[in-house]
Amino acid sequence: MHDERPNQGEAHRSLVERNLRLTEEVKRRVDQLAAINTVATTVSQSLDLNVTLEVALDAVLSVIRVEAAGISLIDEEAGELVLMAQRGWVQDFVTEKPMRIKLGKGISGQVLATDDVVITGSLAGDDRLAVPAFGNEPVQAMAMAPMHAHGKIVGILSVISHHPYTFSDGEITVLCAIADQVGVALDNARLYERVREEQARLSAVVQSAADAIIATDSHSRINLFNRAAERLFQVGADDVLGRPLFDSPLPRRVLAELRRAMARVEGREGSTVIDLQMENGEFWSGVISPVYAPPGHTGKSAEGWVIVMQNVSHLKEAERSRVQFVQSAAHDLRNPLGTALSAMAMLQSEFEMAEDMARILEIAIDGIVRMQDLIDELLNLEHIESGVGMKHQPVDLSDLLTRTGTEMVPLMAEHHHSFTLELEPDLPPVLGDARWLRRALENLLANAIKYTPDGGKITLRAFTSGDGKEVTLEVEDNGPGIPPDAQVHLFERFYRVAVTEDVAPGTGLGLAIVKSVAEKHGGRVFVRSKVGEGSTFGLVLPVGQVDDECH
Ligand code: ADP
Repeated sequence: MHDERPNQGEAHRSLVERNLRLTEEVKRRVDQLAAINTVATTVSQSLDLNVTLEVALDAVLSVIRVEAAGISLIDEEAGELVLMAQRGWVQDFVTEKPMRIKLGKGISGQVLATDDVVITGSLAGDDRLAVPAFGNEPVQAMAMAPMHAHGKIVGILSVISHHPYTFSDGEITVLCAIADQVGVALDNARLYERVREEQARLSAVVQSAADAIIATDSHSRINLFNRAAERLFQVGADDVLGRPLFDSPLPRRVLAELRRAMARVEGREGSTVIDLQMENGEFWSGVISPVYAPPGHTGKSAEGWVIVMQNVSHLKEAERSRVQFVQSAAHDLRNPLGTALSAMAMLQSEFEMAEDMARILEIAIDGIVRMQDLIDELLNLEHIESGVGMKHQPVDLSDLLTRTGTEMVPLMAEHHHSFTLELEPDLPPVLGDARWLRRALENLLANAIKYTPDGGKITLRAFTSGDGKEVTLEVEDNGPGIPPDAQVHLFERFYRVAVTEDVAPGTGLGLAIVKSVAEKHGGRVFVRSKVGEGSTFGLVLPVGQVDDECH
């Protein structure tokens, strides 16, 4: 027993030493984990490339007790590995003598090829050096670890000792862990920088565009107002950015137009167009489009809006000249026709004529009247399509339909047609030109009267549709109906269905005019027809919003 005492003391001491070593080891591991943790949290918080690089160098040098560290990134385009940051080096290889190594060359080439850590001793006289000047660094030991992001090597993290040093397995594990953390963070930072550059480029394009561009977010707040928009509205971007569009200092008239246009396309694909005359007399045309995310995801409210406005004064001027030319040409054509017609009417009334001669004269007079009608209708169509002089006022539809129907009653009576007017109570107004809408309805009624055999039934009807956002105006008859293959062409200029050619004279322009009127009001036309049963022709128009809502 006595003999065992010194042995027991030694065992105790070695136990204490082992415990101490273990405690140290645990402490080192905890420090390493803490360092990895610091890198993980810090680098993932920053999208600034330089900050990330500095944090990574700090962290790696706090765990691996060597003098120097460096981070190189792969420049795919140049096919090079570029030193981005260094700490503790003697020479400046980042700015003074940029270290760019062809991918695959030097010791770094070995790291990339093996996708593994490479450990070296002193580099003096090492013939693998791709950058000879690096041989002047007092390197006594070096470990280089590949940095990964999204499964790819993006660069290399190196630690360099200025005295002979053996890297422990634990240190190499930490080096690799930090390298990968930094790899992902750097990749994110690079991606972010690229996105920022892309954004800056896009913004420069948008800012210098000749068209005025305004964009809003999902809360209708303006988030883009380019220089052309500033010039157009004489408002600085700073005064409108972040403000709700309808609370911005843009002219109220413009805001009212925009609100109406947005109501027309909200929830749908595509865009709508508005025409504006500014106070300085210039004409601007605006295309208003809802933005959906993801693209094409319609049917819900827009994520925002884009408004692109273009100066179309020169086009308006050209259009005006064209209308003027057509009008004066039509006038010049009409005059001699009028003279010929009066001469023939005089012949007819003043002179006794043989029956044959009278019939020939009748045909000639008919031809001239039809030519006059054609000129009139062409003029109307030209005028409507040009949009010149179109009014944009609230139109009381009950009043419009009642007047138009009443006006046509005598003509219907001539053909013994019965007439019904069906008006939904409290019809909302549409915004537009009452004269043009009346002409469209007259054309539809005239067709119903003309093509329905005597004693038919004609109905003029108006009701709200499209969830209350639209109004439908339609004329129904129990006439001959139209075959489906002809229906698709009905609204084209000069189109006439072959079978009706003999029923009644016409120009083939009446429905083209109806279509043009509907489109100028932001609406559309339709036809439903069944041979032997009858036809329904109509216009669908957006309900008008009154300017006062724009506050
Ligand atoms: P127009 O009546 O002068 O020929 P429109 O453009 O008004 O020209 O009509 C085009 C064609 O559509 C007509 O020629 C006729 O064949 C057909 N159509 C129009 N309305 C009706 C109707 N209510 N019933 C049957 N056919 C019609």
